[in-house]
Amino acid sequence: MTSWKNNVRNVIPYTPGEQPKKKVIKLNTNENPYPPSPLVGKAISDVSMDSLRKYPDPNCSSLISAIAKYHGFDDENIFVGVGSDDVLAMSFLTFFNSDRPIFFPDITYSFYDVWADLFRIPYETKALDEDFKIVASDYASDCGGIVIPNPNAPTGVAEPVEFFEKIISAHPECVVIIDEAYVDFGSESCIDLVRKYDNVLVVRTFSKSRSMAGSRIGYAVGSKELIKYLSDCKFSFNSYTMDTVTLAAGVASLEDDEYFKARLADVINTREWTKGQLEKLGFSFPDSKSNFIFAKHSSIPASDIFEELKKRDIYVRYFSKPERISNYLRISIGTEEEMQQLINTLKEITN
Ligand code: PMP
Repeated sequence: MTSWKNNVRNVIPYTPGEQPKKKVIKLNTNENPYPPSPLVGKAISDVSMDSLRKYPDPNCSSLISAIAKYHGFDDENIFVGVGSDDVLAMSFLTFFNSDRPIFFPDITYSFYDVWADLFRIPYETKALDEDFKIVASDYASDCGGIVIPNPNAPTGVAEPVEFFEKIISAHPECVVIIDEAYVDFGSESCIDLVRKYDNVLVVRTFSKSRSMAGSRIGYAVGSKELIKYLSDCKFSFNSYTMDTVTLAAGVASLEDDEYFKARLADVINTREWTKGQLEKLGFSFPDSKSNFIFAKHSSIPASDIFEELKKRDIYVRYFSKPERISNYLRISIGTEEEMQQLINTLKEITN
């Protein structure tokens, strides 16, 4: 007898970082340690009960216009979604519809292969070199699409715009997605390439640099044609992706650029301080341009350090696979005090 199980879409899901219930020093999910702008709080409390009675704006016009204005694009160049995970998932579904494989690095955001499997998109991973850098020549052949984070995660390694322009210009046959989740922390953005190439989609998030992981706001910037295809898929799936409160919160965040830039500077300064401290303790790492450091110790296995830190209520992220990164810890940048406490604890552990 055949079973209903033969008809199930059977997938292995992405595992998000742990969100412990107790109070810990939480350096495991690349959240921003600072709260969002006070204007965000005000915008949320100003949302009327009556507006919650109604459906939200399915076109997300207020947030789209605010993002378009912020980056100097037209509204038709912007797509928004429930975090950049939603934007990326919708982009995979929309643009990666070829029999040819899509390409992405072997060490990268571990959601890419999950979406590829979910949507039955063939894919090939391309190995990073021994310094965890992307090898451009690996991306030269015709393919079904390309997706690369810049800076890459979990390595934090960034490449300049020219590096991506070569890839994008060589691939008119497919869409190239640049995932800029961490770009605000000090690497070059490919956003201006959107003005020149109709096959590049730049994906961004409010979760990291704007301290709004809990609001779930992501967006894509692309040619008007790409954005139209993306919107058509979204409206074939769920009209009301963004809620009224979140739309208001997102607009308010963009209105407070001074606060945004000040908090970015705080995170970047703390990251640079942490790099120096980690080196003194025998850690090495590729140079990170993001809000995390991907570090290994000269003698103590990463899994041991991970467990020891956890026992002391300091959470970092450890990926046991693939083998090549199984001796690294991904440490998100917290406040100055949190990083000082991390370093003090690491001193104890490594002694
Ligand atoms: N891209 C990369 C490279 C990430 O690390 C993350 C965070 N997990 C995301 C996208 C998704 O972030 P969000 O859905 O919070 O915007």
